[in-house]
Amino acid sequence: MPPLKGRDGLAEYLSEDLLYKTDRPRWYEKMRELSVAASKAQHTPFHEILVSLGARLHQHVMQNIDGLDIREPGMEPKTFALHGRLQNLRCIKNPGHTSNWSEAKPGEVCESCATKPDMRNPARQVRRNNHMRPNITFHRESVPEGTSERLGQLLQDDWDLLVIAGTSLKIGSCYDFARKLSNKIQAAVGCVIRIDPKAATKRVGRIVNIDLLLPADEVARRYSSMAS
Ligand SMILES: [Zn+2]
Repeated sequence: MPPLKGRDGLAEYLSEDLLYKTDRPRWYEKMRELSVAASKAQHTPFHEILVSLGARLHQHVMQNIDGLDIREPGMEPKTFALHGRLQNLRCIKNPGHTSNWSEAKPGEVCESCATKPDMRNPARQVRRNNHMRPNITFHRESVPEGTSERLGQLLQDDWDLLVIAGTSLKIGSCYDFARKLSNKIQAAVGCVIRIDPKAATKRVGRIVNIDLLLPADEVARRYSSMAS
């Protein structure tokens, strides 16, 4: 995947400012290219470990939008993609109307909205040109409705281990979720492990039991060599 910043970086495209205001065809084309690139993305060693855990992995909450989980049978149902997946599109007016890029029509108009019957004259069809947009959360955009409720439901489950990797937990809502889950796990004498080469901030340090100051892929490599 291209980097976020610099020449050819994604930052320009991953901003809702560009979404409807400027060069929409160019933007759509870039999004389509990205969805193809995401479909070809390779698993990292850490992701392979997640997959290999099988039934021992209860839930996977991720901020990545590459949708790597879709390609693994069994991973998608237990993955909560907090920021959506690049492979999917949703209607700007009716988020329940979804499709993927291969089904998307030129101009990316929502087919479900376009063929809605007229309420006053059901024999007629109403044409509504509601556009489809990538089903991801852009920079400065809010997460879709229902996200916090779904995270709240996860807190009801029984947990004994939480592994935090690949996130600084700088975003308040992510930190709050991790903190509540950590409190629950520690009350049940479980364990919270954080994996990141950078030292934790004080507030994150307070919610973890073990802080592994290593890149996640290095931890995965060591885990694999121990397991084999
Ligand atoms: Zn629609």
